[in-house]
Amino acid sequence: MDLKSLIRDIPDFPKPGILFRDITTLLRDPEGLRYMVDLFANQIKEANLMADYVVGIESRGFIVGAPLAYQLGAGFIPVRKPGKLPAAVHSVEYALEYGTDCLEIHQDALQSGCRVLVVDDLIATGGTAAATAKLVKQIGCELVGFGFIIELRDLQGRKHLPDAPIITLVEY
Ligand code: IMP
Repeated sequence: MDLKSLIRDIPDFPKPGILFRDITTLLRDPEGLRYMVDLFANQIKEANLMADYVVGIESRGFIVGAPLAYQLGAGFIPVRKPGKLPAAVHSVEYALEYGTDCLEIHQDALQSGCRVLVVDDLIATGGTAAATAKLVKQIGCELVGFGFIIELRDLQGRKHLPDAPIITLVEY
């Protein structure tokens, strides 16, 4: 199946000059959704990246991360924007084009030594996934790898990630 044909391009979103890769059209397609999750899980298994937990990044990382965790027999843990998680959190700040942003994870979600796979829908500059990896490593977890449906290769986001295997399904 051609996953690219199910991903929609939206010009000038969220800002003029940005071409947004929209996966909602892939997610709404019953066969496409199943194919994407199965392909993702199979590639992770083949690369031997089995983890105790899939950590998904808000918010599209939740949509792909939860079914992936289910398929892999792992648990799912959300990494969220500030102020959204109800219990005590660990936080990490990271640089944006203008200013900084922050991501949070529940303090009791992970313990030192856990094997973790970080998942999001898309890697662009790599800043979001790199910050999540930092959070996971600060807790003392083993980062087994990263998984993204989409990689925007020109932005060279993988250069900003720590050394760990990266699974991607579609490249632009
Ligand atoms: P990065 O930190 O620059 O790698 O940006 C990745 C984050 O921005 C991810 O959480 C993505 O969901 C989001 N993102 C950036 N560009 C797109 C896009 O074209 N489509 C969907 N999400 C995007």
